[in-house]
Amino acid sequence: TALDCGIVIEDDWPGYNIDLFSSPTHYSGDLDCVYIPHGVIIDRTERLARNIMDDLGDHDLVVLCVLKGGYQFSADLVEGIKTLSRNSNRSIPMRVHFIRLKSYLNDQSTEDLQIIGAEDLSFLNGKNVLIVEAIVDTGNTLKMLLKHVEGFRPKMIKVAGLLVKRVPHSVACLPDYVGFEIPNRFVVGYALDYNEYFRDLDHICVLSESGKMKYKI
Ligand code: 5GP
Repeated sequence: TALDCGIVIEDDWPGYNIDLFSSPTHYSGDLDCVYIPHGVIIDRTERLARNIMDDLGDHDLVVLCVLKGGYQFSADLVEGIKTLSRNSNRSIPMRVHFIRLKSYLNDQSTEDLQIIGAEDLSFLNGKNVLIVEAIVDTGNTLKMLLKHVEGFRPKMIKVAGLLVKRVPHSVACLPDYVGFEIPNRFVVGYALDYNEYFRDLDHICVLSESGKMKYKI
Protein backbone atom coordinates (compact mmCIF):
# COMPACT_ATOMS: atom_id res chain seq x y z
CA THR A 1 0.00 0.00 0.00
CA ALA A 2 0.96 3.68 -0.14
CA LEU A 3 1.93 3.53 3.53
CA ASP A 4 4.50 0.78 3.00
CA CYS A 5 7.14 3.06 1.50
CA GLY A 6 6.99 5.46 4.43
CA ILE A 7 7.24 9.20 4.04
CA VAL A 8 8.20 9.84 0.43
CA ILE A 9 10.75 12.57 -0.20
CA GLU A 10 10.58 13.62 -3.83
CA ASP A 11 13.58 14.15 -6.12
CA ASP A 12 13.07 17.91 -6.22
CA TRP A 13 13.06 18.31 -2.42
CA PRO A 14 15.74 20.98 -1.76
CA GLY A 15 15.94 20.36 1.99
CA TYR A 16 16.05 23.10 4.59
CA ASN A 17 18.68 25.80 4.75
CA ILE A 18 21.28 24.55 7.23
CA ASP A 19 21.24 27.86 9.13
CA LEU A 20 17.57 27.44 10.03
CA PHE A 21 18.56 24.68 12.48
CA SER A 22 21.39 24.19 14.92
CA SER A 23 24.19 21.82 14.03
CA PRO A 24 27.80 21.43 15.24
CA THR A 25 30.03 24.33 14.18
CA HIS A 26 32.80 21.86 13.28
CA TYR A 27 30.69 20.89 10.27
CA SER A 28 29.86 24.39 9.07
CA GLY A 29 30.48 24.57 5.35
CA ASP A 30 30.45 20.77 5.01
CA LEU A 31 26.70 20.44 4.54
CA ASP A 32 24.40 21.46 1.70
CA CYS A 33 21.11 21.25 3.52
CA VAL A 34 19.12 19.58 6.28
CA TYR A 35 17.28 16.84 4.45
CA ILE A 36 15.32 15.39 7.38
CA PRO A 37 15.31 17.28 10.69
CA HIS A 38 15.96 15.26 13.84
CA GLY A 39 12.50 15.92 15.23
CA VAL A 40 10.82 14.46 12.17
CA ILE A 41 13.01 11.35 12.41
CA ILE A 42 11.95 10.90 16.03
CA ASP A 43 8.26 11.40 15.22
CA ARG A 44 8.37 8.89 12.39
CA THR A 45 10.29 6.38 14.53
CA GLU A 46 7.60 6.59 17.22
CA ARG A 47 5.01 5.59 14.66
CA LEU A 48 7.16 2.71 13.37
CA ALA A 49 7.47 1.50 16.97
CA ARG A 50 3.68 1.43 17.19
CA ASN A 51 3.34 -0.48 13.92
CA ILE A 52 5.91 -3.02 15.11
CA MET A 53 4.12 -3.34 18.43
CA ASP A 54 0.79 -3.92 16.65
CA ASP A 55 2.28 -6.67 14.48
CA LEU A 56 4.71 -8.38 16.85
CA GLY A 57 3.47 -7.49 20.31
CA ASP A 58 2.51 -11.02 21.31
CA HIS A 59 5.96 -12.65 21.31
CA ASP A 60 9.53 -12.07 22.49
CA LEU A 61 11.64 -10.07 20.09
CA VAL A 62 15.32 -10.11 19.24
CA VAL A 63 16.40 -6.77 17.82
CA LEU A 64 19.38 -7.19 15.52
CA CYS A 65 21.03 -3.79 15.20
CA VAL A 66 23.23 -3.32 12.16
CA LEU A 67 26.23 -1.20 13.17
CA LYS A 68 27.59 1.28 12.95
CA GLY A 69 24.99 3.35 11.09
CA GLY A 70 22.01 1.69 12.75
CA TYR A 71 22.85 2.44 16.36
CA GLN A 72 20.87 5.67 16.69
CA PHE A 73 17.79 4.39 14.87
CA SER A 74 17.87 1.14 16.89
CA ALA A 75 18.21 3.02 20.15
CA ASP A 76 15.29 5.32 19.37
CA LEU A 77 13.14 2.51 17.99
CA VAL A 78 13.76 0.30 21.03
CA GLU A 79 13.00 3.31 23.23
CA GLY A 80 9.71 3.77 21.37
CA ILE A 81 8.75 0.12 21.82
CA LYS A 82 9.68 0.30 25.52
CA THR A 83 7.48 3.36 25.99
CA LEU A 84 4.54 1.58 24.38
CA SER A 85 5.24 -1.54 26.44
CA ARG A 86 5.01 0.29 29.73
CA ASN A 87 1.98 2.34 28.75
CA SER A 88 -0.29 -0.41 27.49
CA ASN A 89 -1.44 -3.88 28.37
CA ARG A 90 0.67 -5.41 25.65
CA SER A 91 4.40 -5.60 26.23
CA ILE A 92 7.24 -7.15 24.28
CA PRO A 93 10.21 -8.68 26.07
CA MET A 94 13.20 -7.57 23.97
CA ARG A 95 16.78 -8.60 23.54
CA VAL A 96 19.18 -6.46 21.58
CA HIS A 97 22.08 -7.88 19.61
CA PHE A 98 24.67 -6.05 17.52
CA ILE A 99 26.34 -7.02 14.28
CA ARG A 100 28.60 -4.94 12.13
CA LEU A 101 28.72 -4.74 8.35
CA LYS A 102 31.29 -2.89 6.39
CA SER A 103 31.13 -2.21 2.66
CA TYR A 104 31.61 1.50 1.97
CA LEU A 105 34.69 3.54 1.06
CA ASN A 106 34.09 7.28 0.58
CA ASP A 107 30.57 7.34 -0.83
CA GLN A 108 30.90 4.21 -2.94
CA SER A 109 29.68 0.71 -2.16
CA THR A 110 32.42 -1.88 -2.45
CA GLU A 111 31.96 -5.50 -3.47
CA ASP A 112 33.54 -7.14 -0.51
CA LEU A 113 31.22 -7.23 2.45
CA GLN A 114 32.16 -8.38 5.91
CA ILE A 115 29.88 -9.38 8.81
CA ILE A 116 31.43 -8.93 12.23
CA GLY A 117 29.79 -10.36 15.35
CA ALA A 118 27.46 -12.73 13.53
CA GLU A 119 29.55 -15.89 13.91
CA ASP A 120 27.07 -17.70 16.12
CA LEU A 121 23.52 -16.51 15.94
CA SER A 122 22.04 -19.86 16.99
CA PHE A 123 20.12 -18.11 19.78
CA LEU A 124 17.89 -16.74 16.99
CA ASN A 125 16.43 -20.21 16.49
CA GLY A 126 12.64 -20.05 16.91
CA LYS A 127 12.66 -16.35 17.78
CA ASN A 128 10.99 -13.32 16.22
CA VAL A 129 13.82 -11.25 14.81
CA LEU A 130 13.72 -7.57 13.89
CA ILE A 131 16.69 -6.48 11.80
CA VAL A 132 17.27 -2.73 12.19
CA GLU A 133 19.14 -0.93 9.40
CA ALA A 134 19.65 2.80 9.00
CA ILE A 135 19.63 2.81 5.21
CA VAL A 136 18.93 0.49 2.30
CA ASP A 137 20.51 1.51 -0.99
CA THR A 138 20.81 -1.26 -3.59
CA GLY A 139 19.49 -3.76 -1.07
CA ASN A 140 22.51 -6.04 -1.52
CA THR A 141 23.55 -5.76 2.11
CA LEU A 142 20.09 -6.57 3.34
CA LYS A 143 19.70 -9.49 0.97
CA MET A 144 22.97 -11.01 2.11
CA LEU A 145 22.20 -10.42 5.75
CA LEU A 146 18.73 -11.96 5.44
CA LYS A 147 20.22 -15.08 3.89
CA HIS A 148 22.70 -15.34 6.74
CA VAL A 149 20.05 -14.85 9.44
CA GLU A 150 17.60 -17.28 7.80
CA GLY A 151 20.25 -19.96 8.21
CA PHE A 152 19.71 -19.86 11.98
CA ARG A 153 16.00 -20.70 11.55
CA PRO A 154 14.20 -17.90 13.38
CA LYS A 155 10.41 -18.13 13.70
CA MET A 156 10.02 -14.86 11.82
CA ILE A 157 12.23 -12.14 10.40
CA LYS A 158 11.10 -8.56 9.93
CA VAL A 159 13.21 -5.63 8.82
CA ALA A 160 12.99 -2.00 9.88
CA GLY A 161 14.85 0.49 7.67
CA LEU A 162 14.85 4.18 8.49
CA LEU A 163 15.73 5.21 4.94
CA VAL A 164 15.21 3.49 1.61
CA LYS A 165 16.74 5.00 -1.52
CA ARG A 166 14.93 5.13 -4.83
CA VAL A 167 17.60 3.56 -6.99
CA PRO A 168 17.36 2.21 -10.54
CA HIS A 169 18.95 -1.16 -9.82
CA SER A 170 17.59 -2.12 -6.45
CA VAL A 171 17.45 -5.87 -5.81
CA ALA A 172 13.84 -5.59 -4.64
CA CYS A 173 14.70 -6.43 -1.07
CA LEU A 174 12.75 -3.92 0.94
CA PRO A 175 12.23 -3.50 4.68
CA ASP A 176 8.82 -4.32 6.19
CA TYR A 177 8.92 -1.04 8.12
CA VAL A 178 10.22 1.99 6.24
CA GLY A 179 10.77 5.41 7.75
CA PHE A 180 11.40 7.47 4.63
CA GLU A 181 11.85 6.82 0.93
CA ILE A 182 14.53 9.22 -0.31
CA PRO A 183 16.10 10.21 -3.65
CA ASN A 184 19.39 8.63 -4.70
CA ARG A 185 21.65 11.06 -2.84
CA PHE A 186 24.38 10.39 -0.30
CA VAL A 187 23.20 11.40 3.16
CA VAL A 188 24.90 11.67 6.55
CA GLY A 189 23.95 12.28 10.17
CA TYR A 190 21.86 10.46 12.78
CA ALA A 191 24.73 7.91 12.98
CA LEU A 192 25.23 7.70 9.21
CA ASP A 193 28.81 8.56 8.33
CA TYR A 194 31.10 9.67 5.57
CA ASN A 195 34.43 8.00 6.34
CA GLU A 196 33.49 7.96 10.03
CA TYR A 197 32.60 11.67 10.15
CA PHE A 198 29.11 13.14 10.68
CA ARG A 199 27.81 10.42 13.01
CA ASP A 200 27.72 13.18 15.65
CA LEU A 201 25.12 15.15 13.71
CA ASP A 202 21.45 14.87 14.72
CA HIS A 203 19.75 15.78 11.45
CA ILE A 204 20.00 13.78 8.26
CA CYS A 205 21.84 16.05 5.86
CA VAL A 206 23.28 16.17 2.37
CA LEU A 207 27.04 16.75 2.11
CA SER A 208 28.41 19.72 0.25
CA GLU A 209 31.12 19.25 -2.38
CA SER A 210 33.65 20.88 -0.06
CA GLY A 211 32.58 18.55 2.76
CA LYS A 212 33.19 15.56 0.49
CA MET A 213 36.63 16.83 -0.43
CA LYS A 214 37.57 17.66 3.14
CA TYR A 215 36.94 14.15 4.51
CA LYS A 216 37.92 12.07 1.49
CA ILE A 217 40.50 9.34 2.06
P1 5GP B 1 23.27 -1.45 -0.10
O1 5GP B 1 23.90 -2.79 0.09
O2 5GP B 1 21.79 -1.47 0.18
O3 5GP B 1 23.59 -0.86 -1.42
O4 5GP B 1 23.97 -0.47 0.91
C1 5GP B 1 23.61 -0.41 2.22
C2 5GP B 1 24.71 0.20 3.04
O5 5GP B 1 25.44 1.20 2.35
C3 5GP B 1 24.13 0.87 4.23
O6 5GP B 1 24.00 -0.03 5.29
C4 5GP B 1 25.11 1.99 4.49
O7 5GP B 1 26.15 1.51 5.30
C5 5GP B 1 25.66 2.34 3.15
N1 5GP B 1 25.01 3.50 2.51
C6 5GP B 1 24.23 3.49 1.41
N2 5GP B 1 23.80 4.71 1.09
C7 5GP B 1 24.32 5.55 2.01
C8 5GP B 1 24.22 6.98 2.22
O8 5GP B 1 23.55 7.73 1.50
N3 5GP B 1 24.91 7.47 3.28
C9 5GP B 1 25.65 6.69 4.10
N4 5GP B 1 26.29 7.30 5.11
N5 5GP B 1 25.76 5.36 3.94
C10 5GP B 1 25.10 4.79 2.91
